Amino acid sequence: MAKQRFDALKVVELRQPINVNPPSEKVSDYFGVNTFGLHVMKEQLSTDIYTRLQNAIHKGEQIDENVADAVATSLKAWAISKGVTHYTHWFQPLTGSTAEKHDAFFEMTNDGTAIERFKGSALVRQEPDASSFPSGGLRQTFEARGYTAWDPTSPAFIIESGKGKTLCIPTVFVSYTGESLDNKAPLLKALEQIDKTATAVCQIFDRSIEKVQATLGTEQEFFLIDKALADARPDILLTGKTLFGRTPPKGQQLDDHYFGAIPSRVSRFLQALEIESYKLGIPIKTRHNEVAPSQFEVAPIFEEVNVANDHNQLLMDLMRKVASRHNFRVLFHEKPFEGLNGSGKHNNWSLLTDKGKNLLQPSTKAKENLIFITFFINILKAVYDNADLLRASIASASNDYRLGANEAPPPIISAFIGTQLFNVLTELENNGDIKVKKGDNIYMKLGINKIPPILLDNTDRNRTSPFAFTGNKFEFRAVGSNANNARAMTVLNVAVANQLELFKREVDKLIEQDEKKEVAIIDILRSYIPSVKKVVFEGNGYGEEWVQEAKRRGLSNFRDTPRALQVLKKAATSRLFKRMKIMTQAELFARHEIRLENYTRKMQIESRVMADLALNHICPTAIRYQNMLIENVKGMKDIGLEEETEEVMNLIKKVSKHLNQVKKLSNEMTQERKRINSIDSPEEKAIAYCDEIKEKYFEELRWHVDKLETMIDDEMWPLPKYRELLFLR
Ligand code: ADP
Ligand code: MG
Repeated sequence: MAKQRFDALKVVELRQPINVNPPSEKVSDYFGVNTFGLHVMKEQLSTDIYTRLQNAIHKGEQIDENVADAVATSLKAWAISKGVTHYTHWFQPLTGSTAEKHDAFFEMTNDGTAIERFKGSALVRQEPDASSFPSGGLRQTFEARGYTAWDPTSPAFIIESGKGKTLCIPTVFVSYTGESLDNKAPLLKALEQIDKTATAVCQIFDRSIEKVQATLGTEQEFFLIDKALADARPDILLTGKTLFGRTPPKGQQLDDHYFGAIPSRVSRFLQALEIESYKLGIPIKTRHNEVAPSQFEVAPIFEEVNVANDHNQLLMDLMRKVASRHNFRVLFHEKPFEGLNGSGKHNNWSLLTDKGKNLLQPSTKAKENLIFITFFINILKAVYDNADLLRASIASASNDYRLGANEAPPPIISAFIGTQLFNVLTELENNGDIKVKKGDNIYMKLGINKIPPILLDNTDRNRTSPFAFTGNKFEFRAVGSNANNARAMTVLNVAVANQLELFKREVDKLIEQDEKKEVAIIDILRSYIPSVKKVVFEGNGYGEEWVQEAKRRGLSNFRDTPRALQVLKKAATSRLFKRMKIMTQAELFARHEIRLENYTRKMQIESRVMADLALNHICPTAIRYQNMLIENVKGMKDIGLEEETEEVMNLIKKVSKHLNQVKKLSNEMTQERKRINSIDSPEEKAIAYCDEIKEKYFEELRWHVDKLETMIDDEMWPLPKYRELLFLR
């Protein structure tokens, strides 16, 4: 029945903006009030404890019981002073979102009274009932259960909900035998490796550098849909995307007035989101540069990768909650609407030294540019050597719809660097073996004295690249809107760390053979350029020519998740992850399995919802409409207008044709699903879902349903239409 659609439209008609009251005029008055950040710790902890905690955070030193107890005591006092009653370990299981287990601060004493208690041990470690989180058979193999352990590098924070206030403690989730069961643990290990290796390379140039931090700024794209309309679409509710829906005619897109100025309901939502984020210390700036109608973006000021990623995960939770308060649903699906732009999560990434220098910032000083070019080329080499792993890191059922579709990076991993830097590579390559004599300007001789400090030609073309250099950072643009950045960031940092280690070893060897340091560096960098040039692509990444060109270059093009994930099984991957101390082969295999199962489950749900909508919503509507037309023809004949019925008769035939196809395809697909569900191997099953369900049925089924949408009386159509969903007021 179309009743739900029209009821929802009536609700939307009457919506009013929800008022937002900032706690204060000045953001600095309330920024971070709900976080136990460094400023609070410094105030609350003794100097000794504070120093030891600092050492744990910045130097990775162990936290002993005394420190944990002292932090727990002041954390509890701070939280209770803010009206908090419960605490929870907050973690990022492999399901993709975040999880919590709430405990009250109260404990019973021997005489039966309750006191507020929170010991260091409760801060440091907790045992969630983990049996429901995916472990890819890991827990069965190694141990029965896992535990969460405090990550002191990410500040604890307070979440306010209807039920009250909860203190959330960021943690990793690991099994008793040490296998990681979450997204954060491998990321922390990868960040340790990038620190170690990048610092070692920095020390070739500057002995005073003791630490390098990877930084991340996540541009988060999303769609905002009215809650009533979204809830009237079972596909949006159950899969996060529209499985059917006629795309607005090409070229015209939607009428201009649909996406002019930001409607006041949306700006109130964005304002409320900013306030909530600031309270949690998330430094976001909302942006309104919607590309598609109803699409928006928020971008924070960059932070250390682990903190930035926790903030992104937290931000997504916050967005869902604030959206609901403002009668919206936020869609993080990478491709919620056919024919419109998808949503990504652009990972802006760079390396920052403890002296405050961005290693990817070109400089006017030749000497500093040698550092820049060293990191720049090593990163590109790492991208070339690990392109398949990077591709796997962004693979998901939902991102498959986006990569390679309109206005989205292709699934081929390449890097955009701009003409000027490309020329620098060429010059370096052509310089051959240079003999440097005493007194020579070595940088000039090596051709690295003239990298322009500001790279102006990062034109719009870099938008089509999955991995673009944008002046002082790389931007991994192919990461999906729904993803946890940790996966992409783990692979990128591991790949670069591994490459930096190799580089250092090669340079050291040349220096031992009495080569001058600068010449050794340039020689090794030069040897990378042929590889680097294979992965660098400056043209239009959206075009079909690139697909052909990439093939000639021998670059991979994995168009679906099950195939993209195959690299996780390779021996070279296990070796890399083992050498970098990130994961064992068993952990890698477990993750592979979990991600395949996740893919299969997503496809299964989409297929079920599709068949259900088709058979139980679309077909009955089509039949009713058909009957109406038949009545019309009969009536015309009754009054002697037989000859006038031709057009209506044609319409009846067309509706029948599509109706029959919808029924046939839905039933066939359901049968196929039954067969595939009995396949044992997770990989075979995922591939079957990809090839024999998704590829074979989804598009065709949708085509017939969307055709029916163009024919059937608008008043009968049961699902809110694209222009209604995307029409925000
Ligand atoms: P653009 O508009 O070209 O994408 P912006 O300067 O607006 O560039 O930055 C986009 C994102 O990149 C922001 O989240 C910003 O904080 C982040 N960013 C900027 N510099 C760095 C850096 N050195 N490391 C990581 N992220 C960065
Ligand atoms: Mg950007």
